[in-house]
Amino acid sequence: MAQAKVLIIYTGGTIGMIRDEKKGTLKPFRLNRMIKSIPSILDLGIEIHAMELEEIIDSSNMTPKVWIELAGIIGDQYEKFDGFVVLHGSDTMAHTASALSFMLENLAKPVILTGSQLPIGLPRTDARENLITALEIASMKNPQGQSLVPEVCIYFEDQLYRGNRTYKFNSENFDAFLSPNYPILAEVGVKIEVFEHRLLPHPNKDLVVRNTLSNKVGMVQLFPGLDLSPFVDMFISTGTELVILETYGSGNGPTDKGFLSAIRKLVENNVLVYNVTQCRQGHVQMGKYEASSDLARFGVLSGDDITIEAALTKAMYVLASTDDTKERAELMERPLRGEMSS
Ligand code: ASP
Repeated sequence: MAQAKVLIIYTGGTIGMIRDEKKGTLKPFRLNRMIKSIPSILDLGIEIHAMELEEIIDSSNMTPKVWIELAGIIGDQYEKFDGFVVLHGSDTMAHTASALSFMLENLAKPVILTGSQLPIGLPRTDARENLITALEIASMKNPQGQSLVPEVCIYFEDQLYRGNRTYKFNSENFDAFLSPNYPILAEVGVKIEVFEHRLLPHPNKDLVVRNTLSNKVGMVQLFPGLDLSPFVDMFISTGTELVILETYGSGNGPTDKGFLSAIRKLVENNVLVYNVTQCRQGHVQMGKYEASSDLARFGVLSGDDITIEAALTKAMYVLASTDDTKERAELMERPLRGEMSS
């Protein structure tokens, strides 16, 4: 069998940072130096190509513009490679993985995002293992010769996750990510054990890169004492088309008149309201409690068990894909890339 070919795309993040001695902060450095620091990469039996984005960033500076650039690179290089490894800061890695999962429609090859909690040059770094295993997973094939993992994933600290199910939950430990509503796709020990029955099916259509994203998405997190009405006025006056409402528990919110009329005002102004729970595990069930039955009655949409990161990027993608309000609502409520359970 021919050697697998994998493209590394370096965007920045701790993995490639060095200490700025003058300022005492971490700043990104260039890709070549980073790859040279792990000579064993050459022993993997994978043909590795690498490129970096023009601007190497801390992922706190991530923008939809960079997602469009990344999706474009993957689209342009798609036929030449068996898989892709995106080196990325962990802070917004779940957002980028979610965005790419929507933008890369009919993806049949692995796009594995990874990074690290300690820079690659440090003796105790987690970067080497993360990068090497991400490359291995990106090169894996099934017995039919297809890529084994046809999805956008995050690989971090021995676990492979569906990217759009994850969130960063720990800023200090090596296992920085969780996927509470969907089990891991692979576990890495002595062997790489891929749970194939959990993977998305291989598409039977060609890749389509959706390279437009809408910025008409708003988000507001409920908290006791919140006065929603100034936010509603701001959303309406700025042309927001979809508001993600981060609710309590199984999709609950206050039942007072002020709150409910603010929600009703959004709906009457043709703003879609998308109910996503602040709880990281479990799902929205509008109507289970009185505290959510009015939301359902007003036509608030259910995000089921979607993550906040996936809800945001899905909304950016859906609003850019169609102007039809009914179709937008229908797309937001059903899984498109395995990002929600039902
Ligand atoms: N601030 C860094 C980033 O997200 C943290 C990391 O890479 O883990 O770029």
